[in-house]
Amino acid sequence: MSDCLFCKIIAGEIPSNKVYEDDLCYAFYDIDPQAPTHFLVIPKAHIQSVSDVTEETAPIVGHIFAVIAKLAGELGLESYRVVSNIGAQAGQSVFHLHFHVLSGRDMTWPPG
Ligand code: 5GP
Ligand code: ZN
Repeated sequence: MSDCLFCKIIAGEIPSNKVYEDDLCYAFYDIDPQAPTHFLVIPKAHIQSVSDVTEETAPIVGHIFAVIAKLAGELGLESYRVVSNIGAQAGQSVFHLHFHVLSGRDMTWPPG
């Protein structure tokens, strides 16, 4: 999608600090980290949020979770949180599906 920030990051039109990339997804460090380790994993296909995942695109999400598990292992993350905000009230500011991976500090529950 031409006016989407994360589509532009995938295309290399906006620079990012890449963690991982394959045919289906792209992972990069968050520009405003909320924990000592904070990266995002996004599908290369433009999907607006979890609310727009379909039976057709659900395998991409499954793949993303396998990638998160692999990256967490490689980065030595023993405890971490995976978050996806859906809609502005929940804190979504970029409307291209993304999973935050946060680690390296104590976290509270429930989230704010
Ligand atoms: P959301 O608020 O939609 O759940 O998460 C969007 C995330 O994207 C935020 O944590 C924000 O810091 C991050 N972000 C926004 N613009 C950029 C950017 O240009 N580069 C990177 N690496 N992260 C960004
Ligand atoms: Zn997009």
